[in-house]
Amino acid sequence: MTSEPPVLVLSDALMRDLLDAARAAGPREICGFIVHDDKAVQCLPVSNIATRSHDRFIMDPAEQIAVFRQIREQGQTLGAIYHSHPRGEARPSRHDIDGHGYPRIPALIIAPAARHGAVMQAWMMHTQPPQPLPITTTARFL
Ligand SMILES: [Zn+2]
Repeated sequence: MTSEPPVLVLSDALMRDLLDAARAAGPREICGFIVHDDKAVQCLPVSNIATRSHDRFIMDPAEQIAVFRQIREQGQTLGAIYHSHPRGEARPSRHDIDGHGYPRIPALIIAPAARHGAVMQAWMMHTQPPQPLPITTTARFL
C-alpha cells in the first residue's frame, strides 16, 4: 500500500503552460505526459498524429518512446497523461476511456473553451465511471 495522497500535484506555472499550449493549438487536441521528480514537475508534449485531431489524440510512437527513455534515465515518475478538448468539457469521452492504456496513471484533460471557462480536471480511469482526481499545486514546484 502507498501512503501517497490521491491527488495530482502540478505547479501554477505548469497549469498556465498547459492552458496556453491547448489554446495555441486551435482546433487540434494536444497530448503528452506530466512527469516529476523530487524537485520539479514538467510536461513533455508529444505530437498528436490522429487524423481526427479535433476530437482524438494518438501519440507519435517515436516521441512516446523518447519520453519513456527520459523518465527512466532521469529517474522521474510519470504523473499523468494529458490531452485537451479544444471545444468540449474536461470530461473523458468514451474514446478516452476505451483508449487509456495505463490504468494506474491519471488522465488530465485540459478544456480551454469549456462552457463555464477554461478548466482542467484529472481523472482516475480504471474505475467505471472514471473518478475525478483532485489537483493541487505545491510550493516546492513553483
Ligand atoms: Zn478526450
